[in-house]
Amino acid sequence: MKSFGALAILTLATGIPAHTERELDYASARARLVDSIRGYARSMGARADPRVLAAMRTVPRHQFVPAGQRDEAYRDYPLPIGEGQTISQPTIVAMMTHLLKPEPGDVMLEVGTGSGYQAAVLSRLVDHVYSIEIVEPLARRSAKRLDALGYDNVTVQHGDGYAGWPAHAPFDGIIVTAGAKHVPPPLVEQLKPGGRMVIPVGSSLGTQELKLIMKDGKGRVTSRTITPVRFVPLTREERD
Ligand code: SAH
Repeated sequence: MKSFGALAILTLATGIPAHTERELDYASARARLVDSIRGYARSMGARADPRVLAAMRTVPRHQFVPAGQRDEAYRDYPLPIGEGQTISQPTIVAMMTHLLKPEPGDVMLEVGTGSGYQAAVLSRLVDHVYSIEIVEPLARRSAKRLDALGYDNVTVQHGDGYAGWPAHAPFDGIIVTAGAKHVPPPLVEQLKPGGRMVIPVGSSLGTQELKLIMKDGKGRVTSRTITPVRFVPLTREERD
């Protein structure tokens, strides 16, 4: 008798192709992850923004991690993405996105595209995301990935995000996903009145403090410390 592989048997039994079956597994793992983020927020006495959670339920994080690590994509920790960089922990992505208070008409800037995952999540909640990545292969790969997955309201550029992106400024929100030694003044300048910036600030070796910077309607800037975090350092472009 002809023997079938396990996947072929699964396909015969359910009528669903194996790759679709795998996508369904990823989707349910993703839903469980989102539930656990909601539960974590509640345990801290906070209410996770349901729109942020809904966005995270749609973005396939497994497509943003190296192929060998797909099965870990829906665990709540950072993962390596090559070039010594990491994709952030999902809980931190949820928290930072929440702090930005994204609105449908907003134009946002991200510094540190990495895998493109955070930009993809944010793109579901705003009009457009401009994202800058200093490591050229990462910028290239994330732009290609976002394009292939249909995130057409994200624009990725290779460069040093310390200087922001003056051509598209001012921004309703700015998210920095690498640890800065200080808040880059060009980014504060490029924030709209009423805008918010989320940025890890601290020593490049240890942990940073996640800061929420707010610019009020009169252009006055205030800052709040949210929680300790650990991000890869914000690096600077080599200059002659
Ligand atoms: N947001 C990413 C994770 C970022 S990891 C994601 O969702 O996958 C931090 C990224 O910031 C790294 O890819 C690093 O190369 C990049 N980075 C560091 N310094 C930078 C700078 N000055 N300008 C732009 N990107 C920078």
